[in-house]
Amino acid sequence: MDLKPGYLETPSEQMRRPALKILLASSEVAPFAKTGGLADVCAALPVALEQLGHEVTVVMPAFRSALQCHRQIRKTDLQLSIPIKSQTLHARVLRSSLPDSNVTLLLVDYPPYFDRQDLYRDELQDYPDNCERFTFFSRAVLQILSQLPDSIDIVHCNDWQTGLIPAFLKLELNSDSRFQSLASLFTIHNLAYQGLFSQHDMPVTGLDWQFFNWRQMEYYGKLNLLKTGIVFADGLNTVSPTYALEIQTPELGCGLDGLLRERGQVLQGILNGIDQRVWNPKVDPHLFCNYDSGNWQDGKKQGKAALQKAVGLPRAPRTLMIGIIGRLTTQKGWDILTPVIERWARTQEVQWVILGTGDPHFQRKLEDLGRNHPQKVAVRLEFSEASAHQIEAGSDLFLMPSHFEPCGLNQLYSLRYGTVPLVRQTGGLADTVVNATAETLATERANGFSFRAATTAALEETLDRASQIYQHQPGTWRQLVETGMAQDWSWERSASAYERLYEQLLSKHRHDS
Ligand code: ADP
Repeated sequence: MDLKPGYLETPSEQMRRPALKILLASSEVAPFAKTGGLADVCAALPVALEQLGHEVTVVMPAFRSALQCHRQIRKTDLQLSIPIKSQTLHARVLRSSLPDSNVTLLLVDYPPYFDRQDLYRDELQDYPDNCERFTFFSRAVLQILSQLPDSIDIVHCNDWQTGLIPAFLKLELNSDSRFQSLASLFTIHNLAYQGLFSQHDMPVTGLDWQFFNWRQMEYYGKLNLLKTGIVFADGLNTVSPTYALEIQTPELGCGLDGLLRERGQVLQGILNGIDQRVWNPKVDPHLFCNYDSGNWQDGKKQGKAALQKAVGLPRAPRTLMIGIIGRLTTQKGWDILTPVIERWARTQEVQWVILGTGDPHFQRKLEDLGRNHPQKVAVRLEFSEASAHQIEAGSDLFLMPSHFEPCGLNQLYSLRYGTVPLVRQTGGLADTVVNATAETLATERANGFSFRAATTAALEETLDRASQIYQHQPGTWRQLVETGMAQDWSWERSASAYERLYEQLLSKHRHDS
């Protein structure tokens, strides 16, 4: 079996003793498979942990997109036999590595489940066998774990697709000596996606019906795989400290707030970082003009002019340009945002550049706005990595009025790119954006604008404040930009927090067992 961790292969590295052995299981890992921020986290965190000296193996399904993503993928001689319902299914395991690292990526290859156009759904609906697919994946992760040459300290699971792993560990493998010393961590990237299935899928999991009760796997008559992970994992975290508190309230607990309060002792919030290899205005290959904190004024001026040209807006160096990028869902605040864009397009001298895909209702609204105000509103209804980078660099202000935001990445990219974020005070947005007030400006902590009430009026008032400062107080604007650009949102910071959490979990586990 060819599973020796890459970094043991060079003599100079053989001296290094990895502090922890971590297996991270995720359905998404960029660039192999991605629908959202989960993929970015599961690609960057393992590399940052490896740089701290830990040994990380990542396991994901061999989705079609993963096999087609132009990374070198090799076979291993690892064979899996997974019981699903009354059958035993046989799968292969493939091996690759995460870009620019020695982190091993193992891919569970079972084409009937994973060789499909998309990860979770076709155009109309979720795949009807999703429970089966991710039960299979979760069991495959544990079989791989039992066959790895070295014992693992931490199994780090992510979102509902891996929620059964902590349950299998606690309910089926608790007396198996190979698994006794390991601790499990379950990370909730977005509580709104819970992996809810019909109770008829309970036998698919292979777990006894006795666990289908409201304290464990059941949720109002359905099987809930996110809840299952929350119930059975040794430790829990989510992707910002404020979101970790918010999900324990009825307002943002998505029906699981009671359980999360009960498990509050083991629930933490750790902010995501940003991948500085991809998001760095100094070397970003997508930008019209590269810059850093030393020459941002010139760099952004050129980036703005080029962006105006690219999206067909008039060249206007002193007009406030507002960027927005994101999924077109109510979560992101489009309901309170579109009336403001509409009013401002009629009454104010500002430009809007909008990039997003999603809900057809919001797509139509945005298309109308672009059509009715071609001099002021540029709308791109597509997924474009290059445009996202160019908007982050060319805009003056970046808007994220989300109703909830587990962490949010775009406000972090904005801070790095000298684009002042204007956000709603929720989740990771509240943890990263410091509202400009007399006090926060005087203490040089302010890096953006924020508001609390999820209303059009509160958003508009804050936008007006930002616009006034942009036009009339260039020194204050410069201070906001430079404070943001000087901050550290790297993965190194976040990885150290995960390292501490892993260590806490392990020592508690050793103490309890
Ligand atoms: P979420 O994971 O809830 O969608 P995040 O802000 O955490 O929100 O991350 C979204 C990521 O997807 C960011 O990297 C963002 O730039 C990117 N993104 C979203 N929509 C688009 C789009 N239409 N084109 C390019 N990138 C996009």
